[in-house]
Amino acid sequence: MTVRAILSLKGSEVTTVAPEVSLHEAARLLSEQRIGAVVVTEANGKLAGILSERDIVRAVAQHGEAALNQPVREFMTKGVVTCMPDDKIDVLMMRMTSGRFRHLPVVDGGTLGGIVSIGDVVKFRVAEMERESEALKQYILTA
Ligand code: AMP
Repeated sequence: MTVRAILSLKGSEVTTVAPEVSLHEAARLLSEQRIGAVVVTEANGKLAGILSERDIVRAVAQHGEAALNQPVREFMTKGVVTCMPDDKIDVLMMRMTSGRFRHLPVVDGGTLGGIVSIGDVVKFRVAEMERESEALKQYILTA
C-alpha cells in the first residue's frame, strides 16, 4: 500500500500553523483536533518545520509555563523528513523508526499534500495483513 492509497482513504487535510503562532495556541489546536503534531509553514506555503506534543512537553519542562507564550519557531524541528505519494508503507515504517518520530508530512511536487502518522501506518498495515491472510485462506480452500 502506498501513501497515495492511505491519503485517498483518510484525506489530505493537514493542520498548519505559522512560525509566529504561540506554543499555547499550537497546544490548543493539538488538543481540539486530537492530533499529535502540526506542520509549520511560512506565509508562502513553504515548509518551515514540525511541532509535536513532545516538543511542547520539552519546552515546558525546560522553560516552565513562560514557554507557552513563545513562538512555535523557537521549539519546532526544522529539518523535516517527508514522504512522497508513491512511497510504500514499509518505507514509512523504516523512516519513522530510524528517525524516532511518529509523523511524516507528504510532499507532492514541492507542495504539502497530507500527513501520515504512526497510527495511520499501523491501521492500514493491519488492514492489509488481514486482506492478505483472507486471500491466503481462500486460496487454500479452493486449491
Ligand atoms: P513525534 O514522535 O512525531 O511526536 O516527534 C518526536 C520529535 O521528532 C519531535 O521533536 C518532533 O518535532 C520531531 N519530528 C516529528 N516528525 C518529524 C519529521 N517528519 N521530521 C523530523 N522531525 C520530526
